[in-house]
Amino acid sequence: MFIATLLLAFSAFSSGDVLPAPFRMELGESGKAFRVAGARIKCDVPLHAETHRLLHQMVAVSKHEQGTSGGVMVFTERPLFDASFRSFEAYELHISPDSLHVVAATPTGFLRATQTLVQMCDKKGRVPCGRIADAPAYEWRGLMIDVSRHFFPVEFLKKQIDIMAAHKLNRLHLHLTDAAGWRMEIKRYPRLTTLAAWRDAALWKDWWHGTRKYAEQGTPQAYGGYYTQRELRELVAYASERGIDIVPEIEMPAHSEEVLAAYPELSCTSASSCPSDFCAGNEAVYDFLQNVLDEVMDVFPSRYIHLGGDEAGKESWKTCLRCRRTMIENDMTAPDSMPDPSALERLQAHFMRRMGRYLSAHGRRMIGWDEVIDATLPEDAAVMVWRDLRHARRAAALGREVILSPAAYCYLDAYQDAPPSQPEAIGGYLPFEQVAAFSPETFADEAHRRRIKGVQGNLWTEYVSTPDHAEYMLYPRMLALAEIGWSGASRRSASDLRRAVINRVAQLRENGVRAFDLRTAVGQRALSHPLSHKALGATVVYHRPFSASYAASGVAALTDGRCGGWSYHDGAWQGFLADAQASCPSLDVTLDLGAERRISWVGADFMQVCNPEIFYPSAFRVSVSRDGQNYTLLGEQSVPSQKTILPDIRTFFIKRKARARYIRVQASPSAFGGWLFTDEIIVK
Ligand SMILES: [Zn+2]
Repeated sequence: MFIATLLLAFSAFSSGDVLPAPFRMELGESGKAFRVAGARIKCDVPLHAETHRLLHQMVAVSKHEQGTSGGVMVFTERPLFDASFRSFEAYELHISPDSLHVVAATPTGFLRATQTLVQMCDKKGRVPCGRIADAPAYEWRGLMIDVSRHFFPVEFLKKQIDIMAAHKLNRLHLHLTDAAGWRMEIKRYPRLTTLAAWRDAALWKDWWHGTRKYAEQGTPQAYGGYYTQRELRELVAYASERGIDIVPEIEMPAHSEEVLAAYPELSCTSASSCPSDFCAGNEAVYDFLQNVLDEVMDVFPSRYIHLGGDEAGKESWKTCLRCRRTMIENDMTAPDSMPDPSALERLQAHFMRRMGRYLSAHGRRMIGWDEVIDATLPEDAAVMVWRDLRHARRAAALGREVILSPAAYCYLDAYQDAPPSQPEAIGGYLPFEQVAAFSPETFADEAHRRRIKGVQGNLWTEYVSTPDHAEYMLYPRMLALAEIGWSGASRRSASDLRRAVINRVAQLRENGVRAFDLRTAVGQRALSHPLSHKALGATVVYHRPFSASYAASGVAALTDGRCGGWSYHDGAWQGFLADAQASCPSLDVTLDLGAERRISWVGADFMQVCNPEIFYPSAFRVSVSRDGQNYTLLGEQSVPSQKTILPDIRTFFIKRKARARYIRVQASPSAFGGWLFTDEIIVK
C-alpha cells in the first residue's frame, strides 16, 4: 500500500472536495455528521478486499482521533432502479447521525461508494449527513502508460493504480511493445526479452537519434527491462481488487522494429535494415502473433486486448512478393501494377481483421488506434480515437464502440505550462484548462452518441524517463479526465474544478506523489488580445507564400491583431518553409498602411521548436517606402542560429523613426533551414 491516508479530507469537508463530482449530492444541515470511529459494520454482501481495507483505514484513523460513535454502517445489495443508474458501478449513500446506509448492486458499486466516503471523511472521522446517488457517465475511464519508450518499475505502476482507484478510473492500458523495447515476458519467444527489451542508450532521445540498436540483456550498456508473467499476474490482481482492468497493448503491424530485430524472418525483407512493419503476407507472422496473444490472454483477463494498428508506413509491403501475392489473391490490386495506397490500406485491414477475429474466437475483443477503422473489422472491435473527431464519427457510424483519447485534449506528454518553464517535453501545449474543457459528447452525432464508451488520457514517454517525471506529467491533468469520464462534461464550473484539483494535488504531494502544482503555473503567453498597433488591418502582399498547412487566418493573419500561444498549430501562427537552398527569405511581405504614417518600431515574434524544425530567423530586415517604388532600409537584425532544448518565442524588431506607407519585412531562414513561424507584424 503506497498511499495510506491519501484522500481523507483536510480538517473540514466541503461538498466540492469529492473528485470526480457525484451525480447527485445533497448535504444536510452543516455540522451534522456520522462518526465512522467505532461504528458497527452490518454487511452480509460480498465486498472487494480493497473495500474492507478502506473501511478499516477510516475506522482506524478516526478512532485514533475521536473515540467511538456507536453508529451503524449498513451495506445493502439491491438493484438501483433509476434508469440512469444501470451501471454496475452505481451506488447510493444515505447518511444520518445514527446510521450510514450504503446501497449498490455489485461489489464494484460498494467499492465506488467507499471511495467516495473516504474523500468525505475528515481527519476527525466525521462524514457529513446527506444523500448521494451516483453512477458514471462512461464505462471506460482509462489511463495509458507507455512503458516501452522508457521502462517503469512495477512499484510505480501499483502507485498509479492506487491514485487511479481513488478517482474511480477503471482501465490501465499498458503500451507494452514498441520500437524502443518489448516489455512482456513471452515464454515461447525468449529473444523478445533477451534482446528486444534492451537497447544501447538509456534515454530514448539519445537512442532514437543515435544508433537505434538493441543490446543483449546483461551487457554493460544495455538499458531496458521487462515484466515477467508472474509480475504481470500480480499486477492484474492488484488492479482488479481496486476495480481496475489492465488492458495490454501489443503493437502490430507497425511500431515493431524491436520484434523484427529479434526475429528478422517476420519482416518482408528478412534484412536487418530496421523495418518497422511485420510482413502481412507471411503465415509465420500470423502464427507468431497468435502465439504471443495466447500468452497475453493467459496473463490478462481483460475482455479488451489492444492491437495497436497505428502509423503503419507499409513501405516494405509494396515490393514484398508475399504481401503482393496476398493483395492479388484478395483482389486488392491487379497482378501487373504497383499496389496503390488503397490496396495497402486494405492489406492492413486484412491483417487487423485476422488478428481481431482470433481474439473474438477466444472470447476477447480487439481494440485498436483509429487507423484500424474499417467496415470489415469484426463487429465487436472497438476503436481508440487519438486523432480528431472525424475518426470518432466514422467509427461510431460504422457501429463500433469508441474510446476517446484525442491528442488535442488527452495527450499528457505535451507541455502543461509555458514551455520555457518546463522540463523538455515532446511538444505542443496542453494546460490543465484545455483538458478540463474536453467534451466527449461533441465527438459524435446525436444518433451515435451511445457508441462513445469512454475517455482515456495517454502518457507517451519519449521524453519522460523517470517515475517522478511521469507523475509530474500525469497529475493534475489526469484528474480532470477522471472527472470528465465519470461525469460526462464536468458538472461544475471550471473554477470550482480547479479549486478541487488544487486541494487534491496538495494531498497527493503530501503523500509523495510528484504532481504539478497548478498554483505555480506561468500559463499562456501574456499578450493583450487583440493587439492594437499601426498596421492592424493593413493589406499584406506576400512575395513568397505561407504554408497551406499553417495558414492561420490566411492573408490577414499577420495584421489581424491575433497573437499565437505556446502551440504553433493553434491557428494563430503562420508557417513559412525555407526553400531547398535557403537562399532567399522564407518570410517576405509588404504591408500597406493605407496612408503615410509616422513609425518608430517594426517587429514580429518568432517561435523556435527544434524537433519539428521550427527555428528563429537568421536575419530580420525591414525596409520602408512612401510610394511603394523606392525603398530604404530601416534596419537589419542578424542572429546566429542555435538549437535549443525548450521551445521559446523571441521578438525580432527594428527601432528607428521614419515616415512610411509601405513596409517590407523579410526574414531569412536559420542556418538549419526548416520553418519560420510568426503570428503578427507589429508597427508602432
Ligand atoms: Zn511482406
